[in-house]
Amino acid sequence: MKRLLTVFALFFAVHAQAATIDAVILDEAALDAIYGQSSFGQSPIDIRVLPAQTLARPDLLSVRLDFSFTGSPFNSPQIRETGNLFDLFALGDPEPVINLFLVDSIRAYGQFAFGIAEGIGSGNSFAITRPLLNVQDEVIAHEIGHLLGLEHEGQGQPPFFETNFDIENLMSAIPNGHTTLNASQVETIFNSVLLQGAQDTGFFLEVRPILVGEAAEFAAVPLPASGLLLIFSLFGIGFLGGGRVKGHSSG
Ligand SMILES: [Zn+2]
Repeated sequence: MKRLLTVFALFFAVHAQAATIDAVILDEAALDAIYGQSSFGQSPIDIRVLPAQTLARPDLLSVRLDFSFTGSPFNSPQIRETGNLFDLFALGDPEPVINLFLVDSIRAYGQFAFGIAEGIGSGNSFAITRPLLNVQDEVIAHEIGHLLGLEHEGQGQPPFFETNFDIENLMSAIPNGHTTLNASQVETIFNSVLLQGAQDTGFFLEVRPILVGEAAEFAAVPLPASGLLLIFSLFGIGFLGGGRVKGHSSG
């Protein structure tokens, strides 16, 4: 499957919590503020969170994305992306709805990640881990940004590949508290097939939260959260499937 995928990862926090539908709390107002900031001018985008759904697929609670090489390494090797992430993304609503899958963990190319989008300007699904503490809104808005066509800002370029992790932009390679989108990014967003509505009636995006879990969990009473267990220091990575690495940075 030739898809451009991206990983948004740093300080992944594992936080034990019961997976009930009550855990799906999206701050729609915070997302509206990001997609209606001043660079959107007279065309703010309304984020509309659709009713949450549950998906009783415990086999998809921990999703992974890997790649394997096929063909001869000396003669046009092909990179093939594998993993159950694609099984998960296949279960979402069709475009233009954006599917937000909440899972327990995401591992992409061996690294734990906060979130992962199906593509940059392609696909309509992304996954995030739950709960994401204080960076959840930023990660959700960031992954939606990828689906709308935005690449990372501050990404290292040849020959040094030095990434600016402090860039004041939503599309920084790691979450850093900044949610700015510039005029050029807004232009890209308005070319997305996922954008609905019109100038006179208002533009909007529909986001469907889908909570993945065990069937029994969905009727359960929430348990108290048990606090932070582990913290991993990770990195952001951009990757183009189909045989060509587009950009890669580590830190
Ligand atoms: Zn990203």
